[in-house]
Amino acid sequence: MKCSICNEKAVGSFQEKPYCSEHFKEALESFVFSFIKEKKLIPSSKVCVAVSGGKDSTSLLNIVSKYMQNQGLGKPTALCINEGIEGYRDKTIKDIAEFCNKNDIDLKLVSFKDEFGFTMDEYLEREGEHLSSPCSVCGVLRRYLLNKHARDFDVVCTGHNMDDEAQSVIMNLLNDNMGLLARQGYFSGLLHSDKFTKRVKPFYFVKEKEIMIYSLISKFNISFNACPYAKADFRNPVRVFLNEKESEDKNAKKNVLEFYLSIKDRLAQQFLNESLQECQICHEPSSKRICEACRIREKWTSF
Ligand code: SF4
Repeated sequence: MKCSICNEKAVGSFQEKPYCSEHFKEALESFVFSFIKEKKLIPSSKVCVAVSGGKDSTSLLNIVSKYMQNQGLGKPTALCINEGIEGYRDKTIKDIAEFCNKNDIDLKLVSFKDEFGFTMDEYLEREGEHLSSPCSVCGVLRRYLLNKHARDFDVVCTGHNMDDEAQSVIMNLLNDNMGLLARQGYFSGLLHSDKFTKRVKPFYFVKEKEIMIYSLISKFNISFNACPYAKADFRNPVRVFLNEKESEDKNAKKNVLEFYLSIKDRLAQQFLNESLQECQICHEPSSKRICEACRIREKWTSF
């Protein structure tokens, strides 16, 4: 296949058009820049990018950094959460630290161990086979720390891509979790609080395989290993299902997101009256008297 612009050999397709490496990179970056502009995802220079050192967040940090410099907004700050997963997160943190150092980007590191007193490995060792999905605990704690440590910024950019987002729509529907479903989208969250930093997703309409190609072309020094605890996640069968659907219809994931966005406002109306409280223990925002992170913390001390 030839590049649709210059006739060089194509390395892959972006938005169904074949491109050589140079034009692939240009096409993806220009698509994301336009999306950020059109949806006003980056309103100021106080921008934080949540990073893990994987392909999605490293690509995102690179693109957001380029965008901000083009707009005269300086550079974002990278925020990385260390869950304490030996043999996995230690390696990705080394990679993202190198990337930030090379590109002169401030990196803020926060860890489960410092904040909660345990690593993810230690928690799972105690909980053992009783925990069906490590991600259900890890995800709560990660979101908690992300919000807490991004408070000085106007937005936090996350590397969620089209695949992640379509999977989340299907998972929330299957779990009948309409409250969580209503909070999805390229701007997440519904209720306003000074203690909530808006989360934005510049890769909302970019496929995972497109980001994979971008990260390879960009020659980022990253590993492509998956988290060892991800296998047990309910996301996996949903991922397989959507990939199968996409092999029959290339727009399958995009269709899920476009349908979701078409009903999001009506769905959100049902949850706008929910009140936001302060957790009685840690004083972070919570929809319940005690937030989920403090419940997990309490559980750890009771083991
Ligand atoms: Fe945590 Fe699950 Fe992500 Fe691993 S895959 S880092 S356990 S949320």
